Amino acid sequence: MGHALNPAQRLATLADPTTLPPRSGTPARFTVVARDTSSEARAGALQLPHGTIETPEFMPVGTNATVKSLDPDDLRDLGAQIVLANTYHLYLRPGHERIERFGGLHRFMGWDRPILTDSGGFQVVSLGPLMRIREEGARFHSHLDGSEHLFTPERSIEIQQALGADVAVAFDQPVMPDASSRREVERAMERTHRWAVRSLRAHTRPDQALFGIAQGGIDVELRAQSADVIRALPFDGINLGGLAGDETPEQRNLAIEATVGALTGDPRVRYLMGLGSPIDILEAVVRGVDLFDSVLPARVARNGQAWVTGGRMNLRNARHLDEDLPIDSACDCRTCLRFSRAYLAHLFRAEELLAYRLLTIHNLRHLTSFMGAIRSAIRSGTLAAELPRLRARAGGPGSPRLGAGDEPGEVPARGAMRPRYAAKGRVVLRTVQGAEDTEG
Ligand SMILES: [Zn+2]
Repeated sequence: MGHALNPAQRLATLADPTTLPPRSGTPARFTVVARDTSSEARAGALQLPHGTIETPEFMPVGTNATVKSLDPDDLRDLGAQIVLANTYHLYLRPGHERIERFGGLHRFMGWDRPILTDSGGFQVVSLGPLMRIREEGARFHSHLDGSEHLFTPERSIEIQQALGADVAVAFDQPVMPDASSRREVERAMERTHRWAVRSLRAHTRPDQALFGIAQGGIDVELRAQSADVIRALPFDGINLGGLAGDETPEQRNLAIEATVGALTGDPRVRYLMGLGSPIDILEAVVRGVDLFDSVLPARVARNGQAWVTGGRMNLRNARHLDEDLPIDSACDCRTCLRFSRAYLAHLFRAEELLAYRLLTIHNLRHLTSFMGAIRSAIRSGTLAAELPRLRARAGGPGSPRLGAGDEPGEVPARGAMRPRYAAKGRVVLRTVQGAEDTEG
């Protein structure tokens, strides 16, 4: 097969789902242990090669095989069950082949619990002018040294198999949902479907799960259509892609409902990529999503923003310099048990490295403990009754003000961590914080 075909025919053959070899078994066994009767929320157990994780769960992002400023013991202490690492970044530096020579990502980063790698699709597309998409794949220039590279579905899978995470993800073409025309969203979605089949065909590692990505922007018809297509393919889990971008919470909620509606009865785990704020996560859990990831808790920590019960607190605010209180008296993290707001505020003003570390520990613990509260409410059948309290704890609408200088409510930094789209469908990367803006 192949030698008589031109390149376009060869790609069409690779993307033909009817010729996919069957997959036997799954290294990602998902069991729903409790369902909320008033919503789509469910609590589950996802069994992976390096351990079983309880869902719904948030995955901290370790872009460069580290969650910035934390080591694996910190992550374990704050209750992280699984971390995400970025294929694009590790491919460029230190290189997936080097990591493979060192025995894979788990051994390289000293983390023996589950890991998920993304496909690099989001990072590559975020490169904007440094990137061109063709049917074959995405050609791009490295943000590190300008060197030229080609990511295809086959190449992304090859890199992820070398990294050796518990879960790999199909290569896709995300678009900014609100700033793209329906035609652009549809074309990217259809290409994502063809790339999904090519990703499956390329994936051969039996001890690694492969998740597929449903796209479709914020158009509910396209969302349902994409979920139908991805559902029909033998993936081990189903991702909701292209959200957590420039859409409103209402647009996102409708997109989730359309996707989950099309997945009714499907036994696989559902993962919404890129969502990080507690209130956004809670609303997605209620709509049937199981897994989340974002750099948000760690990124806002670097800016001095603490997530607390009912909202957030800016530790750069001078008011905190005289407060002999923990960041959040309801928090059981190492930072809150030992240090005062005054000390944290001082560290931020002195630009001490410890400030980032202590606040990242707190923000991630805030989120993992929030996820634990959601799980136990689902398991005990009390989610409906507890929702108002959980929404208030997450800093949702109607939550109390924290005091002058602190803003309650949803963290609006989501847009700041995503590429901005200047015109319809045109991707322009504004490197507000340098190339780190392409982390997942
Ligand atoms: Zn804390």
